[in-house]
Formats: sequence, structure tokens, C-alpha cells
Amino acid sequence: MPSPVPAAAYHLSPDETEALDFYGRNSNPTWRRLEAALAELEGAATALTFGSGMAAITSVLRVLAKRGTKLIVPADGYYQVRRYAAEYLAPQGVTVVEAASAAMCDASKDADVVLAETPTNPGLDVVDLHQLAMHCRSRGATLVVDNTTATPLGQQPLSLGADLVVASATKGLSGHSDLVAGYVAGSHPELMEAVARERLLAGPILGAFEAWLVLRGLGSAGLRFERQSQNAQALAVMLRSHPAVRSVRYPGLPDDPSHRIASQQMKRFGGLVGVELDSAEAVHALVQRSALLISSTSFGGIHTSVDRRARWGDSVSEGFARISLGIEDIDDLIADVEQALG
Ligand SMILES: *Cc1c(COP(=O)(O)O)cnc(C)c1O
Repeated sequence: MPSPVPAAAYHLSPDETEALDFYGRNSNPTWRRLEAALAELEGAATALTFGSGMAAITSVLRVLAKRGTKLIVPADGYYQVRRYAAEYLAPQGVTVVEAASAAMCDASKDADVVLAETPTNPGLDVVDLHQLAMHCRSRGATLVVDNTTATPLGQQPLSLGADLVVASATKGLSGHSDLVAGYVAGSHPELMEAVARERLLAGPILGAFEAWLVLRGLGSAGLRFERQSQNAQALAVMLRSHPAVRSVRYPGLPDDPSHRIASQQMKRFGGLVGVELDSAEAVHALVQRSALLISSTSFGGIHTSVDRRARWGDSVSEGFARISLGIEDIDDLIADVEQALG
């Protein structure tokens, strides 16, 4: 794989028809390799990289959500998306409606733009994307799906009818907890051109080195995601029968409320498990007594990590934690978590 190429920031080709690499904010060869790979993974015609997941999401929202439009965002999804919609888009004249993921279709009746997230972060509810896409299509609304938690290795929202995918590559896709990145993928040429134009003019771009790191990480993404999903399934099964655990959410558990739809639209159920313990102290004690668990708010890395979401203001109980499974030996991990739960 060639080294990162930060584009010809200071050199113009004497060939004046050269369109792409005239300046590093427009495109560069490393982005294009990564974008080709992301488009292929998502089943999209094209993809565009961004400096973060939020940069990708907010760029799409600036393109689609204009004054007078109605935008639906998940009330139970990634919290900073709601914050952006409320603090920036609403004052610009966008009607912002927060809807529970379980009620996205009902809330989307007269919407212009619908942003869905599935499985939701952190609650791990699953939205029926095919149903929502048909609903949006019949009403002329644009459906944007945040594919961060599932990654394209877990599901392909475009094949289920979404118009655009937005995602953070900071998490499972890059997988080594050492960079921040995002992307948009889609197959409508005018929509993708408008997003590319927004990126050029607003400038929320990814550094060439980070793009190169994501590209390098993609080589092992399949192995990592497979292992994380297997580890998550095994941990969820153990946690469910542990006396110190109040409840467990994992779309791969046959009796999980999301299992039926998840089985229809996901290839793998992913590496995130939601667990509810008795209190915040119980979550702290779990991490302290464990030799393998680390405390971290990001997720999708190779080490298993725990985030108590109430600390960030999510409407979950004090003892709710999102566990992101790493690629450790599962017997080691189960033994460690069992002893740490006491
Ligand atoms: C982390 C996350 C984001 C934001 O991505 P950044 O790369 O941190 O900007 C968006 N959506 C979901 C579901 C996330 O988990």
C-alpha cells in the first residue's frame, strides 16, 4: 500500500485539465483509495471521508435540512447529533423532532429528512430499516442512516433502501482507538455531489495520515468484527444468567426485543452489549476488579471497554453500561468478568 499522499497542496500540475488534486481540501490519492474501499463495503456508488463522524453527519444535515424543512432525529441515539440539531439547525429555521427509534415510522409522516441510527448507541434498539425506507420513499423523505455501531460488516443500510449512510470510522471500523474519522456513502450522484461541495467549502476534512491509518486498519476489520461479535454473544449469554446483572441487551440474544428484525437485516450482531447493574458503584467496581476491562467512552477497539452512559446524560439508569467487546480470548474474558462481578 502506498504511503499517505497529502495531495499537491503547493503544486499545480501544468496540465490544467487535472481536476482532483489541485488542493488538499478537495481530494487526494489516499482519500480516494479509502473512499473506494468504503463505497465497496457499504454497497454504494461513492463515499466521501470526513474529519470525524460528527463532521460527516453535520455536513449531510447542512445539505439536506434547510429553513422550513422537518428533520427527525433519534431521541435515543448518539447524543451530540441531537445537540447539533437543537443548538444549530433549529435556530436556522429547521423543525427538529426527536423521536424514539421504536416509533421512527410514525414520527416521520410529514418529514423531509429522517436520520435513523441502528442499533442505537447506547440502548441497542434496532430500527426496521426496510420498513422505514419504504415509508420515507412513499412520502418523499430522504432517509439517512448512521451505520457506526453495526459497521458495513454488520449491515448495509443502502441495500435496505436508505438514501445515504453516515458513520464514524473512529470506532469499530478503524478499530485501534487511535484516530478520529468519518464518512458518507451513497449512490445518488446529485446528493453525493452536494455533500462533496459542502466538504470542499466548509472544510471538515480528514488528514491524509488518518485516512491511511483507516485504510490499513480495514485489512483486519473483518477478522476483528467477527471476533468482537462472537465475544459479545458469549458475554451476553453469561451476563444474562449472572445474579448481579439486572438486564442485558444484545441483538444476538434470541429473546432480545430487537432480535427478530436484527436477524433479518444484520449479517453480524456486532460487538456492543448493554448491561444494567444495580448502581453506578457496581459498574465502577466491575472495572476496578477486572484485569481486562478498561474504562473508555469510545468503542470498537481491540480491548474490551466499559462506558457508564448516565455520566454523559443519556436517559438510562445509573447502573447501565455499554460494553464494547475486544478481540481477547473469550474464555479469559468470561472468567475475568465473572470474578469481577463478584
Ligand atoms: C461516535 C459516534 C458518532 C460520532 O463520531 P465521531 O467520530 O466521534 O465524531 C456518531 N454516531 C454514533 C452512533 C457514534 O457512536
